Amino acid sequence: MRKILHADCDCFYAAVEMRDDPSLSDIPLAIGGRAAQRGVVATCNYPARRFGIHSAMSMAQAVRLCPHLHILPPDFDRYRRVSAQIQTIFHELTPLVEPLSLDEAYLDVSDIERFHGSATWMARWLKRRIYEQVGIIISIGVAPNKFLAKIASDWDKPDGLFVISPDQTDHFIANLPIDKLHGVGPATTEKLHNMEIRTCSDLQRQPLAHLLEHFGKFGARLHELSRGIDERPVKLERERKSISVETTFDRDLKSLEECRTALAPLLVKLDERIERNGRPALQKLFVKIRFDDFSLTTFEIAGTSAEAAYFLPLLEQAWQRSARPVRLLGAGVRLTPPEAGRQISLFD
Ligand SMILES: [Mg+2]
Repeated sequence: MRKILHADCDCFYAAVEMRDDPSLSDIPLAIGGRAAQRGVVATCNYPARRFGIHSAMSMAQAVRLCPHLHILPPDFDRYRRVSAQIQTIFHELTPLVEPLSLDEAYLDVSDIERFHGSATWMARWLKRRIYEQVGIIISIGVAPNKFLAKIASDWDKPDGLFVISPDQTDHFIANLPIDKLHGVGPATTEKLHNMEIRTCSDLQRQPLAHLLEHFGKFGARLHELSRGIDERPVKLERERKSISVETTFDRDLKSLEECRTALAPLLVKLDERIERNGRPALQKLFVKIRFDDFSLTTFEIAGTSAEAAYFLPLLEQAWQRSARPVRLLGAGVRLTPPEAGRQISLFD
């Protein structure tokens, strides 16, 4: 039986700002782009959440909800430094750390003998040590696998520690709404709701063949997840070389115009992902297309900014290579190797 922790800082960017300037702690605070520049809330503190503000909301709307909202631009250099300190503390406990973003990681502590092997005590120790040494509050979920650990870390945020032990798994999962399952987004949720499937126990009653028929390969995954099964290993930290997003469409896109329309929401998602990784330095931008004949093409150019306008010509060039209906569209960025970044900062 594995023991997995999912650790996730509470409103990380805002937490760093409040740590460094305690006068911000009790006032509504949002980190993100200015309303006038069509900015978006990256993170906000709990006083701001009481006004209904949440991340990914437009800053203009946030200011309408709370006119005295205090807005700060993100300071990714500082967030990256704090993140590195937290990662160091994770590694004091176990070498098996898989970072997901600046403030989030999975830890496999199955073979750790400290604290008599109690994952709950390890989680308590991590929370205390990170608070004492870095001044940041982190929520931790403890479970036998990744997907349950991630749900657990969110379960009693802020300052949470929630444990799903192996013998509690069945009970915990029975009433879990299906949109909490890993990989189930709004479209799948709607489809499941239309089939009168709302909780994992509803899902458990569906025969595997039925799920395969409606959801393809993902049906098998739903079958497993609804039983609390998730065998994904905690993958060791490795240098991230690119960040990308892609979608396979329910029906093929017939024209370049349809592709342009479909690219826009992908780019929003890509930008969110770049942001969660602390806006690393970019080297190249690319667009990927799979046509209806399954041929795949990628078009890339050098670029340091992931603004939407730069991707449109890439889409056109890639599409013109076959000019056929499109099954899959992807967009991404390749990152500058960190050594290059460090060398530059030496000369700053
Ligand atoms: Mg977080």
